[in-house]
Amino acid sequence: MNKERQHFETEAIRTQTEKTQFLEHSTPMYLTSGFVFEDAEEMRAAFAEEKNRNLYSRFSNPNTSEFVDKICKLEGAEDGYAFATGMAAVFSTFAALLDAGDHIVSARSVFGSTHSLFTKYFPKWNIETSYFNIDEVDKAERLIQSNTKIIYAESPTNPGVDVLDLEMLASIAKKHGVLLIIDNCFATPYIQKPIEFGADLVIHSATKLIDGQGRVLGGVTVGKKELIREIYLFSRNTGPALSPFNAWVLSKSLETLAVRVDRHCENALKLAEFLASHPRINWVKYPFLKSHPQYEVAKKQMKLGGNIVAFEVKGGINGGRQFFNNIKMCSLSANLGDTRTIVTHPASTTHSKLSDEDKAAVGITNGMVRCSVGLEHIDDIIADLQQALENS
Ligand SMILES: *Cc1c(COP(=O)(O)O)cnc(C)c1O
Repeated sequence: MNKERQHFETEAIRTQTEKTQFLEHSTPMYLTSGFVFEDAEEMRAAFAEEKNRNLYSRFSNPNTSEFVDKICKLEGAEDGYAFATGMAAVFSTFAALLDAGDHIVSARSVFGSTHSLFTKYFPKWNIETSYFNIDEVDKAERLIQSNTKIIYAESPTNPGVDVLDLEMLASIAKKHGVLLIIDNCFATPYIQKPIEFGADLVIHSATKLIDGQGRVLGGVTVGKKELIREIYLFSRNTGPALSPFNAWVLSKSLETLAVRVDRHCENALKLAEFLASHPRINWVKYPFLKSHPQYEVAKKQMKLGGNIVAFEVKGGINGGRQFFNNIKMCSLSANLGDTRTIVTHPASTTHSKLSDEDKAAVGITNGMVRCSVGLEHIDDIIADLQQALENS
């Protein structure tokens, strides 16, 4: 059988590091910082990269390589590099590819720390960022300058679950000879493969649905070989590598990604439908609800709607707070993509420093709740939110 043509679930399970002499069934942990050489000539050849082998775990390790190989297959990418966190992946990818004076065009709604990179840190190297609104993807083109190197976006977005047209962004990037980089964290490769729509690189925070059980941090960037080469050289010198232990955990997690994400999405859709009919709710946003403003785009580029549901409780900021205080089972946390259902109130927590105008621009209202739907029984998830709504 041609290995390249296997199904997603099979590749997530059967992509494995070569067995040792013990013929173990499940890949063991390679908790080693370095690797040894037979002789001086082998060592020289390895350092000259004449031989593809492990030297030092900051460069590569069998566990991190297995994790990267899997993500490459699942995303349809040529090559990749794994990082200690999602933010290490985001920062290192930009830092490796940009020069002082370069320019980024980004969707306005990006993960908080990514936004801080754009506004607080990159300006130190004279790298500026221009933003397009999530509902005006076509306007991204007007922001491109002669020094623009990268178009950057997340889809679905956090916390507003807006959906950006990846094909449209890719055509703008191609026309102007700039790179398109997509943070695919909210979708996972099971739901959406940005490379199929023309992205050059895909970034993940593996901390979220890839681990899926709230245990370890991790990140990964995959895509075109020549770009990954730059990212690899930068990273092997600067040291953001993923630990072999976390890589081992994450590679095991990928074996169950498809079944987990199927159930996450089934639960999320049922919860979204329940909320849509509840009198204490002003609105619900979920990519696979027909009422979602980018429903058609979501259907075109996503296999399922994802596990994040955004909704607004009646009564503004107090309504939102009261609702949170009534929650019994679900976790109040800023994290997402866990087996446990999590509710977050962006207006008073993650996005509290934004002005009302800036909040509105990224789709946040004062009563808005973001729910990362977990894998508990859907009837128990609905029961908890229902009692919280009806007592508030
Ligand atoms: C969490 C997250 C990140 C950062 O990942 P860490 O693993 O926490 O560093 C980046 N992008 C998105 C969309 C995220 O949700």
